[in-house]
Amino acid sequence: MISVTSLKFDSEVEESVLEVLRSGNIAQGPKVRQFEELFAEIAGTKHAVAVNNGTTSLIASMQILDLGPGDEVITSPFTFIATLNAILSTGATAVMADIRSEDFNIDPSAIENLITPQTKAIVPIHLYGQVADMNAIMALAKKHDLRVIEDSAQSHGATIDGKPAGSFDLASFSFYATKNLTTGEGGIITTNSDEDAEKLQILRNQGMRAKYEYVMAGNNYRLTDLQAALVIPQLKTYSDVVSQRKRNASRLSEILHGAPGITVPSELPGRSHVWHQYTILLPDGKNRDEFVAHMHGEGVVAGVYYPKLVCDYDLYRNHARVVAGAVENARDIATRVVSLPVHDKLSESEVDTVANAVLTCLGR
Ligand SMILES: *Cc1c(COP(=O)(O)O)cnc(C)c1O
Repeated sequence: MISVTSLKFDSEVEESVLEVLRSGNIAQGPKVRQFEELFAEIAGTKHAVAVNNGTTSLIASMQILDLGPGDEVITSPFTFIATLNAILSTGATAVMADIRSEDFNIDPSAIENLITPQTKAIVPIHLYGQVADMNAIMALAKKHDLRVIEDSAQSHGATIDGKPAGSFDLASFSFYATKNLTTGEGGIITTNSDEDAEKLQILRNQGMRAKYEYVMAGNNYRLTDLQAALVIPQLKTYSDVVSQRKRNASRLSEILHGAPGITVPSELPGRSHVWHQYTILLPDGKNRDEFVAHMHGEGVVAGVYYPKLVCDYDLYRNHARVVAGAVENARDIATRVVSLPVHDKLSESEVDTVANAVLTCLGR
């Protein structure tokens, strides 16, 4: 079976983890520090603060902004549930804006209508590896005095007009096992603000500025050196991983271009897509479950990210703090997306197998 993700660690990664294991210092230490320094370079920021997962990094970013009951946060409903769970965990209200089909990301023109005096932040998600329209989003944030937290869980190293994902205000990345870069479980917050970085460092370590000097209600959000050691070698070869994902995406598009009724994903002008997922839109009316089952029959695992809008689940549909305006475009897209294997471990013939399986299954 050709899978949507594949993890293979080389001997350099093994050595890196073994070095920590043998050192006897396995909690947060010098490896976490090194990971932060290297990742800040990728995000183009002054600071990066590592935490234990990507959901924690979203929550920590929101906590240092003091988001709470009565505050409103505008986000996209077409995301992994963690984005919404993080907002709700602060006590704030999540307000859903529609998305654009060209990049599956929040539509800046939908945001402005939703801004009220209670709005405190915008949380764009850079879905599938492509940065949202950050120029328009930052202009809105400036005009209305709002903070921005990029949910960059899927977009390590992606750029728009040369500016990296994570470099705009506060940003959250995930290093879960399926992401482009991984620590198994892990997260990082990037920022250029000395003040925000210091708050995050204190927050993740029980609110301590120095030993037993508690200055805020903190928590234990720490990452371990064992985990950081796993990702440090990956950071050094990450640009090759992205190049391979780009090559695979181009080949898929070459073969699929013009296939009846489907829409292939595009890298928009000015943006560098890191192809966390390669997501096509099936023709209107095509049965997706059957298509995915047929792909399986051809030896290809196709993923559905995400089958439903986060605000459309029963648990959140009538939730007092989940407000969905007109999200019709997002709702339509959620019924038609299918993600194909595009990861860097695929051989050229496997990429061809994936694309040809799509052509075969579209005809069924
Ligand atoms: C993976 C992911 C998260 C959460 O990250 P975890 O590390 O799994 O907690 C948040 N948002 C998006 C869009 C994600 O894809």
